[in-house]
This record gives sequence, C-alpha cells and structure tokens, in this order.
Amino acid sequence: MNKRLLPAVQQSINPKKPKHWSLSLLDSMKDPDSIVKSTEKLVVIRDKYPKAKVHYLILPHEEISSIYKLNHSHVKLIEDFGQMYKKIQEDEDYSLKAGFHAIPSMQRLHMHIISTDMISPCLKTKIHWNSFTTEFFLPYDDVLRELKENGSIQKMTSESHKKLMSTELQCNQCSYKPKNMPQLKEHLRSHSI
Ligand code: AMP
Ligand code: ZN
Repeated sequence: MNKRLLPAVQQSINPKKPKHWSLSLLDSMKDPDSIVKSTEKLVVIRDKYPKAKVHYLILPHEEISSIYKLNHSHVKLIEDFGQMYKKIQEDEDYSLKAGFHAIPSMQRLHMHIISTDMISPCLKTKIHWNSFTTEFFLPYDDVLRELKENGSIQKMTSESHKKLMSTELQCNQCSYKPKNMPQLKEHLRSHSI
C-alpha cells in the first residue's frame, strides 16, 4: 500500500483516530475545560500553549478556515470579535492586544487575545516571539478596517513572511535587543516586577 495514503485510509476505518494536528482547535472549541465564554456566534478558548500570562483565542462557530475567506458579509462577525475582546479586557488586570497571525498554522479562523507581558514557559523560539511582536501579527483594528474597505484581506507574501520571522530580537516594551531567547525571557521578567 502507498504509505502516503495510510493516514486517510486509517481515518476512514477508525473514525476515532485523532484529526490532523492543524484541526485540533475544533476539538478545543467543544472542550468545557478550554472554553472561557461562548455566544451564539463565537467561542473563546484558552490557548493550549499560551505565549503570555493571558492568551485566549476567539473563533466563530461558522466554518471559516482563515481570515483569507472573509468577505463583506463577515463584517458584523468580526465586529462581534471586537465586542468580546472589549469585554475580556474589562475583566482582565493585564494589558492585552488582539490580532491575527498573517499566516496561521491552525484551521478555523481564530483571533489571538494575548497579554503584552509575553511571560510563559511555552514561549520558546524566535519564531514564537516574532509572530506576536512584528507585522506578522495583524492587529484587530487593521483587519476590521481592511475588511470594511476591501471586502477581503490581502495575503502576506512568503518573502515578507521570511523577513519578519528573521527580524532580530527586540523587547516589546523597551529598546533592549537581547542576543538570544533566554536573555529576552530573563529581561521580560524585569518589566513585570
Ligand atoms: P496560529 O495558527 O499561528 O495563529 O496559532 C495557533 C494557536 O493555537 C497557537 O497559539 C497554539 O498555541 C494554539 N493551539 C494549538 N493547538 C491548540 C489546541 N488544541 N487548543 C487550543 N489552542 C491550541
Ligand atoms: Zn524591555
């Protein structure tokens, strides 16, 4: 048998076989231990590998795979994301920001709500860091504006993606430029005293 076909074949034989990892947000959306808030249109879950003290994801119940599938009809939904973000910010003591990764790794549209401390054992790599602190992180307000104006979100080129991921490390709260991730993580703690 062609080995590359094996996972799909196994999945049809055994429907309990775990889904591809990129679909695992769909399971978390149904897991009461993950869910923080839920409304008719959307659900807020805890990020399983938080990259800061507070890290949630907002996802729609509607099957929308990513920001690149959004059109004019979704403006109200994305405004609802903003209302939910506002409510969460009111309940949290930490300063938060909200936005989307320009090239998401997981399926089902999701907006990150993340505290700016960026203190977490799950924050390990330069790619983790740059995905939340460079223009790879598309702020909520910019996405909503682009959707209203153009009815779609323009894709990031792979050249821009590569460039942003190799951006040299810089603290998100001051001008400090650490040499490596351990230095950065130690430095971040000095901002949270
Ligand atoms: P991205 O697709 O790059 O926007 O980010 C996906 C996010 O989902 C990351 O912050 C992961 O830590 C998070 N994540 C991965 N698997 C799960 C899961 N099963 N449940 C909740 N969050 C997850
Ligand atoms: Zn700093």
